[in-house]
Amino acid sequence: MENAVAVRGLGITKTFGDIVALDQVDLNVARGRIHGLVGPNGAGKTTLLGLLLGLAVADSGSLEILGDPVGRTLAAPDGVSGFVDGPGLYPTLTAKQNLAALAGLRPRGARTAGIGEVLEEVGLAMVADDKVRGFSLGMRQRLGLAAALLTRPRLLVLDEPANGLDPSGKKQVHGVLNRLVADGATVILSSHRMDDLEALCSEVTILATGRVVFSGPLNKLSAEDRELDYRLRTS
Ligand code: ATP
Repeated sequence: MENAVAVRGLGITKTFGDIVALDQVDLNVARGRIHGLVGPNGAGKTTLLGLLLGLAVADSGSLEILGDPVGRTLAAPDGVSGFVDGPGLYPTLTAKQNLAALAGLRPRGARTAGIGEVLEEVGLAMVADDKVRGFSLGMRQRLGLAAALLTRPRLLVLDEPANGLDPSGKKQVHGVLNRLVADGATVILSSHRMDDLEALCSEVTILATGRVVFSGPLNKLSAEDRELDYRLRTS
């Protein structure tokens, strides 16, 4: 039987000099879920997502992604795509050219979708030939998502994908993510705000100063945890 676990992280620690960005973090995500990572600025969300994308290596702890242990070299694990710290686009190129350029950076042999196909999926087919410098933040987020979809990932990792999305952009993105998980993929995405994640996620992990303060199904989240999330965001 295929492994039912998408991500199994145990005791993950990552430091930058004196800063402990992640402190003994456990993260368990079953396949086919949309898992939210929430926490205030500096909580460690981007650092954790970067480890999943192979952009950095943990100091200690173990991490298994889609059944394979993550090694100590910087490389996107098989079947994983996404972005951290914004979608990373070329402003002077068109949407289509951006995807062509980004597709060229993908690992050889990764299962690929057509550029027109992914632009359609994120609702940007009409602006395929427009330069990205004229795009709103929400459009850039959707183009970043389209780039991640090019490899038809089995694990999609998105850092704050709701930033700048208007309600229709949000609906479009939610549709894409829900279709992905219906096809058996797994999504992990971060946000500063619990309410951003509630419409989409069945489960969340709350991080605060590099530590997990809650992880589990949203319906198990107590009023105190919600209050904690609120206080962390507003402190
Ligand atoms: P935000 O929502 O502001 O992006 P975050 O929850 O994603 O915050 P991280 O960006 O992971 O948090 O940062 C966690 C801690 O690690 C912060 O104190 C940050 O300053 C520090 N940090 C992250 N990356 C580096 C780096 N490359 N060098 C030094 N410190 C870093």
